[in-house]
Amino acid sequence: MMAIMQEKDLNLASRMDKIEGSGVRRMFELVSSMQDPINLSIGQADYDAPPAMKEGAIKAIQEGKNRYTVTQGIPELIEKVLDRIERREGFRPESAFMTSGVSGGLLLTALALLDPGDLVLLPDPFFVMYKNVLEIVGARVAFFDLYPKERGEGWQPDLNELETLFAKKPKLLLLNSPSNPTGGILSGETLDSLTNLAASHGTWILSDEIYDHFSFDQRFPSMIPRMSQYERCVVLGGFSKTWGVPGWRLGWALGPELLLDKMRLLQQYTFVCCPTPLQYGAVAGLEMDMEDELQAYRKKRDFVYQGLKDFYSLEKPEGSFYAFPAYPKGWTEKDFIQACLERRLLLVPGSAFSRRATHFRLSFAASDETLEKGVEVLRSLAK
Ligand code: PMP
Repeated sequence: MMAIMQEKDLNLASRMDKIEGSGVRRMFELVSSMQDPINLSIGQADYDAPPAMKEGAIKAIQEGKNRYTVTQGIPELIEKVLDRIERREGFRPESAFMTSGVSGGLLLTALALLDPGDLVLLPDPFFVMYKNVLEIVGARVAFFDLYPKERGEGWQPDLNELETLFAKKPKLLLLNSPSNPTGGILSGETLDSLTNLAASHGTWILSDEIYDHFSFDQRFPSMIPRMSQYERCVVLGGFSKTWGVPGWRLGWALGPELLLDKMRLLQQYTFVCCPTPLQYGAVAGLEMDMEDELQAYRKKRDFVYQGLKDFYSLEKPEGSFYAFPAYPKGWTEKDFIQACLERRLLLVPGSAFSRRATHFRLSFAASDETLEKGVEVLRSLAK
């Protein structure tokens, strides 16, 4: 019998060579070994789910709603999701189904649309999962840059760069607005230009709108109303962030019925269905407007921005719950993150989300007290 002594003895599939551990997870692990950390590395809201949502899930369990649901999710939840979208966007997408979080929706979209070697356009910076999901299906990635050329410009793509990239015939353009990790929001004009570019090349658009609720200064421009003009469009959203239930694994996918039908088929053989009692709880969640939480997060955004803007090169976060400041002059990423760790401050190095190592991600999804301590450490480091 051959013992497994080293990783090479596992005889792994070659795709595993390209799948990397996430920098965010590494921070998770560090937290457990650190005493009283100032943790600004977390990508989930610091509030708990609304009581009515929890009661809805508990009631469902007690009533015996513990079996599988249909693959697409319970009809009352799908209807409520579509009602919320119609209220917000004035447009009711053709079709929707419940996915195992936005993560589940991402995997199903990639499996349904991408062959090995297909080209996907990804923003840089990007949410870490995208790159790895694309590796799983063997897609090729070309990045387009979002970094502001000048301070105050915000995180928008350069349309000339995108035109050049579209000439390479990408199968899919992946967008994430409001963004993790930049806190940026793509403008309506940018979305219109990207939709036109995609339409003229027959490219699919996948828009991850998981932070749709966290838009601080304006109603964020969504791809959803643009789906009426351009059908090759999938929009993903979910419960994890807005309702404080990332552990519930509940999201939704919107898109043309013909594609969603294929994605549901894949769901049958992968996730099967979303957790049954939690779907019932989520129905109650959709009754809540979560406005108080949004107000509180706007204040956190203001506190972080006011506290850091004179010390760091920082775009004002417009949405999500992240700020993405540049390292102060003279600091390397390694030294800066190390200096923060020595002061018990946990952040995520920007290279986890980018080809560059020039910025870091600060999550303001934390208590006001933690934010005060974190901002204090960062100000003292930059002085
Ligand atoms: N997309 C983005 C941009 C995210 O930040 C996250 C969570 N960190 C996800 C998707 C995953 O969300 P879910 O919990 O719905 O799978």
